[in-house]
Order: sequence, then C-alpha cells, then structure tokens
Amino acid sequence: VGRIPLGWQTRAYSNKIEYRPIRSVLVANRGEIAVRVFRACNELGIKSVAIYSKEDRSHIHRLKADESYLVGEGLPPVQAYLNIPEIIKICLDNGVDAVHPGYGFLSERSDFAQAVIDAGLRFIGPAPKVVYQMGDKVAAREAAIAAGVPIVPGTDGPITTKEEAMEFCVKHGLPVIFKAAYGGGGRGMRVVRKMEEVEENFQRATSEALSAFGNGAMFIEKFIERPRHIEVQLLGDKAGNVVHLYERDCSVQRRHQKVVEIAPAPKLDTAVRDRMTEYAVKLAKHVGYENAGTVEFLVDEKGNFFFIEVNARLQVEHTITEEITGVDLVQSQIRIAEGMTLPELGLDQSHISPNGFAIQCRVTTEDPAKNFQPDTGRIEVFRSGEGMGIRLDSASAFAGAIISPYYDSLLVKVIAHSQSLQSSCAKMNRALREFRVRGVKTNIPFLLNVLENQKFLNGGVDTYFIDENPQLFH
Ligand code: ADP
Repeated sequence: VGRIPLGWQTRAYSNKIEYRPIRSVLVANRGEIAVRVFRACNELGIKSVAIYSKEDRSHIHRLKADESYLVGEGLPPVQAYLNIPEIIKICLDNGVDAVHPGYGFLSERSDFAQAVIDAGLRFIGPAPKVVYQMGDKVAAREAAIAAGVPIVPGTDGPITTKEEAMEFCVKHGLPVIFKAAYGGGGRGMRVVRKMEEVEENFQRATSEALSAFGNGAMFIEKFIERPRHIEVQLLGDKAGNVVHLYERDCSVQRRHQKVVEIAPAPKLDTAVRDRMTEYAVKLAKHVGYENAGTVEFLVDEKGNFFFIEVNARLQVEHTITEEITGVDLVQSQIRIAEGMTLPELGLDQSHISPNGFAIQCRVTTEDPAKNFQPDTGRIEVFRSGEGMGIRLDSASAFAGAIISPYYDSLLVKVIAHSQSLQSSCAKMNRALREFRVRGVKTNIPFLLNVLENQKFLNGGVDTYFIDENPQLFH
C-alpha cells in the first residue's frame, strides 16, 4: 500500500477485499481516451502501455505511453483494435497486469473482459457478466424492472416479426422508437409516428441492425416527446459499495449523438435529482456493479423519468463530472480494480458534492457547412483556447498532426468549469474563439452558435433543441 498517494486513507486491515497493486496498464484503445488513461497511470506511478494500428504508427497516443506495441497488422484500421487474442498476447509477453478498455472498440464486449480475466489479468471495469447484461438492452431493462427502477414502456424482449411490432404499436399507441437490441452510439434507432409506417420501418431497422451490429434483434419503446437526456455517474467497489457523482445533462444531441454536455443538469428539480440518483445506485447495487458506470434516463416535461440504458464503461463526457466533483474517475477506476474500497478512497457519498457547473464541447474535424462531413488532412496551424477554468483532452490536436479518415472525428474535448452555467458558457465561448485550426475544418462555428443561443443559455433544453434550430448550422 506504499504507493497510495498522500491524503488517501490507509487500508483498514479488517477489510476482506484483497488488495493487489497494479504495476502496468495496457489501454486497448487509441486517441484522446488512451492519453487520458496514460495520464492517470503516470500520476499513480503505474507503467502505461499503448497499442497502435499501422495507420496510427505516428499517432501521438503511441508516444504518450511508456511502451507501445503494433497490433492487428494486415487487418483493417478499426479491426486492428478489436483483435482480442493479439491484445492479450501483448499483455502476457510484456508483463502487463491490467487492461483499460476506454470507450468504444472493445469496451462493451463481455468476451473481451472475460478473455482478460482468463489470461490472469485484471479488467478495469465491471465483471464480464455485468458487462454482458448491460450491453444487451433487453437484459438491462429486465434488471431495471427487477430493481424497481421506472423504465420506458416497451416490448418485454427482443422481437423479430413485423406482426409483433404492429401488436405493440396498436396496444401502446404511437409514437414509438425502434431500437437495435445490440445497438449503440445513437445508431440503429428509428422513430415511427404513423401506423402505415410501422411495417416498412420495422423491416428497414431490422436489416440495418443486422448489417451494423451483426444481430437484427429489435425492441420497441414508447417514444417520449421532448425528453431531456440525463445520466447519473456511478462508482462501485468490490465490497458492494456504490456512490453516485451526480448527473450530466446530454440533451444537446445531433442524430441521437451527444454534442455538448453539462454537469450538473441545469434547472433540474431537486426532488427529481434525488430520486434519479437514488434509483441509479439501487440498480447498480442490484446487479453487483463494480467500477465506473453510467445510468441513463429520459426526463419528460412533467419531471417523470425513465431508465433507458446503462453504459458499463467510462464515457466521453466523464470529464465534466470530474470537474464538478474534483474526483479523478480514471484513477478511481484503477484503484477499485486493485481492490481498494470507496471509503478507502475517501469516496463516501457524504463527501461528494458538486461545485459550480462544467460544460464540455466535442470539437470534431467535421464541416458544419457540409452536413458535418468528416474532413481529413494535415493540421497546418493549431492554437488552442486556454486560461482559467479551461481543460483540454485531446491526442491529435497540434500543428503537423495528420487527421486520418479511419477513426472517429473527435479532435479535442474542451471543458469549461466555473461557478454558474452562464459563466461556464462564457468561458467556453471565449476559449473556442481563441482556437485557430487551419488545414482541416472543425465544428467550432456550430458550437459557437449553440453557445450563443438564448434558449441554451437559459438552461434545460430538451433533445429536440438542435433539430428545431436549423440556424445553428450556419
Ligand atoms: P445509444 O445506446 O445508441 O446511445 P440510447 O438508448 O442511449 O442509445 O438513446 C440515445 C438517444 O436517443 C437518447 O439520448 C434520446 O435522445 C433518444 N431516445 C432513446 N430512446 C428514446 C425514447 N424512448 N424516447 C425518446 N427519445 C429516445
């Protein structure tokens, strides 16, 4: 326990959870999230290990780790990072003792978590069976029901025929949303508002799900009109303790994908917040959730909220929770995987409180003038916004960086933290204006339009906000 930083409580010897220090972490990911985890390792005195595809051989994430290994030679760019046997072999050949999956790629694959554990390594995340249960939207809903958490009315299980789809729509009424049971990242969803469109949409959604996720299973939910997307950050330890770190409002979405996130949720009724966080903790305890995770809810105009899913991993927007609570979520993940308990980490619920407001903008290499088409090439000029209250999480944001077409278009996450929503937005606005990026197009003009929109600044916009304000694109 000599490596526990000062200020962290020393271990109680009566504790039954075995503490096994981690000395070396491999991050099965790339880009900014790989760098984020390397930084946490570095601060904890843990060796960091990167993997990189041949397309990423000159990518900065490789250089930010203590060691790096080529993976997936001969495979397509994304497949390279999904090559489980090779990743495990790299770990075993190089004395790695834990794996962090980041987000995306293998992060929600229970077979990966299991393979890591079977190789005698530690997986920095929940138990494989929990990853599996949460990754299957139908199983996750069943767990929520069992834990007494309110869910959106929906089919009890995956459905495969258009007759079943019709039956649900007749019984529950429209609108509904079709969701791929194994979907994610805002993809594989279709909203249906007319009975005559049920059949056709169901067939399309099924074939889309089959080609995108390798499984055509669908389920249907009642579509909640004008919802806010609000999610609760959790940490659980091996002893069964669970705490929440308040919530994030991710209602500003384009095509069901998050663009701007805020913590805590502005203008959220305190009673609603209390019940939501309480239910999230209840669900986590019910499934034996360990490590970091997020429970997502939709909140309607009346303040009713409904569970939609659990993300059993670190999320892109974890940064804003770190800013308002002062808790380093990635370091906490590593400590929990070592066997430390939340009380030992100083993470009693009564010690966690939000301070001010944090906002995150996802700056991408997409051109808002061309329907957010990804742009690629060499960044010729790069100057970033800086100063008090600004945090930047990035990997390839510098002059000379090559933006390749192979991976997602996130360039830099800009996070602003201040005492009020308005002052955080002002900081963000000012920081984004300081940016100079030449050589590739970015979505900064669009983000600035959002930040200057009065409705947005007033707080509490719902998920219709971007669609209802097409002027934001110009
Ligand atoms: P994914 O796993 O692809 O991110 P989610 O289930 O988290 O999918 O949903 C993403 C977004 O889609 C939500 O934030 C919300 O905007 C919209 N959405 C999902 N389910 C519903 C629903 N039942 N009613 C209204 N909007 C929904």
